[in-house]
Amino acid sequence: MLTIPQTKNIALVAHDNKKKDLLEWAVYNKDLLSKHHLFATGTTGTLLMQELGCPVHCFNSGPFGGDQQIGAAISEGKIHALIFFWDPLNQLPHDPDVKALLRLAAVWNIPVACNRATADFLISSPLFSREYTKVLPDYSPYLNRFKN
Ligand code: PGA
Repeated sequence: MLTIPQTKNIALVAHDNKKKDLLEWAVYNKDLLSKHHLFATGTTGTLLMQELGCPVHCFNSGPFGGDQQIGAAISEGKIHALIFFWDPLNQLPHDPDVKALLRLAAVWNIPVACNRATADFLISSPLFSREYTKVLPDYSPYLNRFKN
């Protein structure tokens, strides 16, 4: 079990063809989003700061390691939810990083929204603005597989 605080660390990432979508969604939900700590890949974060006028911690731009930095933060328990509008119609140079980020979000049971409808459901959940205790899968059999 792991308790996620009421004020959450939320990571936002949008591929170029999805940036407009994410910015519109973020502006619409500005009041709710600004109650949390926001993190983003470089370009997405810069645009969010311009549009929302609130601080966003910017990692590197996605193709330069930003997705991997967010994945690392998830594995350290520092990111509590991920809004990731990835582009389903185009190949990108950092496709392996995209897969890695989604994989780590699944490993650590992080809520993830990959499109606007899911993001609407996520942000309108009462759990979004409340402390939440999540179940973590039991990885100990795997981690202890070589212990006597
Ligand atoms: P960007 O990265 O916000 O720096 O554009 C997003 C991505 O492509 O993963």
